[in-house]
Amino acid sequence: MLHIAIIGSGPAGCYLADQLLRLMPDASIDVLERLPVPFGLVRYGVAPDHQGTKAVTRVLDRVISRDRVYFFGNIEVGRDLLLGELTLLYDVVVLATGATRDRRLGIAGEELPGVIGSGAFTSWYNGHPDAAMPFLREVLSVVVIGNGNVALDVARMLAKDGAEFAGSDLSPEVTSTLAAQTIEAIHIIGRRSAADAKFTEHELAELGTLSRAQPTVADPAGLTGPSQVIETLRRFASAAKQDKPVSINFHFNLTPAAFVGEGRLCAVQFRAADGSTCALPAQLAVTCIGYESRPCCSVVPDHGVFQNEEGKISDRLYAVGWAKRGPSGTIPTNRAEAQQLAQKIAREVTDLNRPGTEGLRTLLKERGLQWVDYSGWRRIEAAELGAAPQQRCRQKSCSLQQMLQAAQMEQLRTVVEGT
Ligand code: NAP
Repeated sequence: MLHIAIIGSGPAGCYLADQLLRLMPDASIDVLERLPVPFGLVRYGVAPDHQGTKAVTRVLDRVISRDRVYFFGNIEVGRDLLLGELTLLYDVVVLATGATRDRRLGIAGEELPGVIGSGAFTSWYNGHPDAAMPFLREVLSVVVIGNGNVALDVARMLAKDGAEFAGSDLSPEVTSTLAAQTIEAIHIIGRRSAADAKFTEHELAELGTLSRAQPTVADPAGLTGPSQVIETLRRFASAAKQDKPVSINFHFNLTPAAFVGEGRLCAVQFRAADGSTCALPAQLAVTCIGYESRPCCSVVPDHGVFQNEEGKISDRLYAVGWAKRGPSGTIPTNRAEAQQLAQKIAREVTDLNRPGTEGLRTLLKERGLQWVDYSGWRRIEAAELGAAPQQRCRQKSCSLQQMLQAAQMEQLRTVVEGT
């Protein structure tokens, strides 16, 4: 039997497990995940009001529930065991660790309070246990840097009325923080033209449906070209002014030059194509400019991505998803990519008689480490669904302790009770 370890349980890791199961009837697959809960970016990146997109977890859940798949939640490679140890235990190891670090602009003032990356911001509104509360009090003007779908998610989450989160899994804490915010203007900034924007039309058009916000375009004369995105922006630009408390302003051809403020952000400076500069007031700036992978033990990404040849990093070590190709594509992109990588692995790998799952269990037990298995995850899921408040589809556990308690892990119960 071939033993395969996949590090990361987001869509890339789960789709790969699915494809490997189909292709290799003699393979056993362990999916390791640093959090007690699976599904990575679907749970913590996809916006809480896009439950239709999050519904893909049902497909991913079926994969990790299969007989030849074992989920090891709450186990972090690099903290609990080393990548080198995994490669001794398994015939194949795959990094499906995503890209979890916000790319940086590298301009003055990026450390100021009030400047935050989209990864940190989306983690917060999705209830990630590591996420810190962003600075939202007394914010009147927000600058959102980037012209991708994440920028639209961030703007929409800040602009929505509380009632528009019905059916989402927004936590009570985030709900009350958003309800108390005082934002009047959201500026979405692209460094290139509107024709170069990476928005998808459906996500862009959604901004035109919000009850308390109206999208506008700062320079409608720049809206040239035949695309659906341009058409939607033209519609925004030509719409009559409505009596709504929030404006969402699209600006193009502005390159961020500096974040300005004394002890806290108060403006963002930009350079225009003709070399002139301008500034927009902002007490909050969210940079939505992409993500980088973090190192996995001795394997270090280059320019944010693990160097690989069609998914192969080195002998018996592969990468998939954002760890392989960088932060691009939609969730279904991972399915197609997983199919190709599974075929490559099936062609290249031979059974080296590694101990696989049993070896991992022994190692973790020796270290006194408890993992959340699939049934533990189902207990967390049941607790979250059972606790869903009115108008919400679930009450996410937002701390590790809550998750581990819900998973009913004996050792942690003792720790929790003892504290
Ligand atoms: P993205 O689509 O690659 O957009 C990143 C934006 O940041 C681009 O406009 C890029 O401009 C800009 N940028 C990069 N470096 C910059 C710099 N130094 N200064 C100024 N601007 C800079 O990335 P994303 O929005 O983070 O989304 C990641 C992936 O997830 C995408 O594939 C996206 O479609 C997907 N996603 C999908 C959905 C959905 O379908 N609902 C929702 C969220 C995310 P340039 O074009 O000039 O490089």
